Amino acid sequence: MIQETYPMTVGGEEVLSERELLAGVEDGLMMDSTDSVRYIILHCSATRCDRDYTVEQLLHDHRARGFRTIGYHFYVRRDGTVSQHRRLLEVGAHCRPFNRCSIGVCYEGGLDAEGHPADTLTPEQTDRLERLLLKLLRTFPKAQLRGHRDMPGSVPKACPCLDCRNVFRAIL
Ligand SMILES: [Zn+2]
Repeated sequence: MIQETYPMTVGGEEVLSERELLAGVEDGLMMDSTDSVRYIILHCSATRCDRDYTVEQLLHDHRARGFRTIGYHFYVRRDGTVSQHRRLLEVGAHCRPFNRCSIGVCYEGGLDAEGHPADTLTPEQTDRLERLLLKLLRTFPKAQLRGHRDMPGSVPKACPCLDCRNVFRAIL
């Protein structure tokens, strides 16, 4: 018999709403091994370069979309602060249908002051991202670095608003 009231327990985890249940079909599952990770996918937060988009705002917005927590594994603020939101082999919620074989990294920015897509990386972000991406590429030897827009069928055509493999060519 199917329980139809929320919160309900699915697979030992409490599910608060139907929206969360639907979003959670893969959200939070674990990948099998380091070989499962085929892509390191870079995103931007689509924030204007003169605005802040804090971890708290990101968490709020992703919860509103029905995610359990922030959908990316890592978030890099303009000042270079890095935060981790998923365990490394945890399935994220950032790039369907590739969530089961990728790590999601997002940087704060991606829009110029007028709201147009632009490479807004600060020197601090570039430095921290280079180190983080290099570490991930070493941890996951089968993985390739890609921008969100480079993935087949990606909906936000601009994300991450820069040529990922060119910007980070020094570590590839
Ligand atoms: Zn994206």
